Amino acid sequence: MEYGKKWERNIPRCLECGDVIRYGRTDKKFCCQDCKTRHHNNMAKGSRVFKRRIMSTLSRNYGILDELVKADVESIDLTDIVAMGFSPDIVTSYHKIRSHQEYCCFDIKYIMTSSRICSISKIQNVSLPLHDGMKIKVKDI
Ligand SMILES: [Zn+2]
Repeated sequence: MEYGKKWERNIPRCLECGDVIRYGRTDKKFCCQDCKTRHHNNMAKGSRVFKRRIMSTLSRNYGILDELVKADVESIDLTDIVAMGFSPDIVTSYHKIRSHQEYCCFDIKYIMTSSRICSISKIQNVSLPLHDGMKIKVKDI
């Protein structure tokens, strides 16, 4: 029994279909070329879907911030802006200014605290790159 379990654990299995890999090198990851191709296609598709979701979230965030800028709203309750569809965790860049974090969604910058988004404004004279090490922060989407 003990021996059986130990042996079962060490059987190489295909990363795509889970079938036992019966022949080939011990580090082989797929049972056949079809599974290998399918696996890589699925990985690429997952990456494309992920990218599309981030881009659409950024676009929605930008639309909301842009409306606020146009309406001369510089400060808004975090719960209110989230209710409008804003996702605070998706930004194009952020950096620390004195004691607070300044975030950007493309050319709109704002300061975010635990309860408010304030100092919402368009960056004047945008030149690329926006900041050194432009980062996309992703959390719980
Ligand atoms: Zn397979």
